[in-house]
Amino acid sequence: MTRVIVTGGAGFIGSALVRHLVLERGFEVLNIDKLTYAGNLASLKPVEGNPLYRFRQADICDAEAMRDAIASFRPDRIMHLAAESHVDRSITGAADFIQTNVMGTFTLLEAARAFWTSLPAPERDSFRFLHVSTDEVYGSLGDEGLFEESTPYDPSSPYSASKAASDHLAKAWQRTYGLPVVVSNCSNNYGPFHFPEKLIPLTILNALHGRPLPVYGTGENVRDWLYVEDHARALDTIVEKGRIGETYNVGGRNERRNIDVVHRICAVLDRLVPANRPRAELIEFVTDRPGHDARYAIDATRLETELCWRAQENFDSGIEKTIQWYLDNEWWWRPLSTRYDGERLGVLDQTKQDAA
Ligand code: NAD
Repeated sequence: MTRVIVTGGAGFIGSALVRHLVLERGFEVLNIDKLTYAGNLASLKPVEGNPLYRFRQADICDAEAMRDAIASFRPDRIMHLAAESHVDRSITGAADFIQTNVMGTFTLLEAARAFWTSLPAPERDSFRFLHVSTDEVYGSLGDEGLFEESTPYDPSSPYSASKAASDHLAKAWQRTYGLPVVVSNCSNNYGPFHFPEKLIPLTILNALHGRPLPVYGTGENVRDWLYVEDHARALDTIVEKGRIGETYNVGGRNERRNIDVVHRICAVLDRLVPANRPRAELIEFVTDRPGHDARYAIDATRLETELCWRAQENFDSGIEKTIQWYLDNEWWWRPLSTRYDGERLGVLDQTKQDAA
């Protein structure tokens, strides 16, 4: 029986991964999550009460709690997703990002290393630590080109800088101590159970309620969208078959401009839930995000050819499924308005900026 610790398993991608590992793979899973504003145990309803699933509320920065959780669960794999993840929040509150993403990853790596060192040889050889990261560490692309695993790091936001730092730590723990680490860098995810501060769920819910649809700048920024369940399958493949010390880029080859994403959501909603005017009329262009990267696009050739992973959804099929899920699951998103009510995040005080 494979035993997996997932950190951040109450988050968007972590919960998709936990559901996949328990329900599709039959693995025993311990979810370690602090339950910040972004953590939501309701996303784990499909595995609630399943004997293969356990939850422990803990902070990855708490060294003793991490050592204890790992020593008592005795995992074959640790899949590390816990992080502060929203770029806008990192602009006005970087401290939490440095604490969790950098110090938390360091603490977890040390706890994993202490456990791994204590294992007898066969278990030590098969143990894996997967560090889950983002394509944002590579910075911004122009109109052409793709991020490859060899693309130099060039992060723009406090979020991506903190993730870049954590990637370096994970790689260093492999090179220096031999800890069997694999790193994955993925493009933007979307899908069910996505906290409504991010572009796609925010747009779906605002459009459904006839509220304005804010688009940063002119909406030309391009993201490479991946359906979250495809990401969960990719992570499972990478931790199982990936080469130690290697990086695997994950992406679905689905580049879209933000404005086109918003238009697509409006069109699908107009068809599924007709309103008295086209929802695209709700679009409002707002001040751009500081340091907003122009374009991300992933070359996932290594993952596709070496590990035989393929995305199962394209953007059109995935967005249709996602919108239908939000229409069918008000029980999940309705209570979240007490945590976030749609206000603009990540705006700097212009008077202070000018003075600086
Ligand atoms: P999320 O914000 O939805 O979830 C993060 C989870 O981590 C939450 O459940 C939160 O409670 C938990 N957490 C935060 N700080 C913690 C701490 N100190 N200790 C323990 N738990 C803590 O994030 P997500 O979108 O699911 O992203 C998961 C991972 O994937 C992150 O590492 C992120 O950088 C990476 N990633 C995300 C995307 C994306 O599009 N969302 C793309 C590529 C990579």
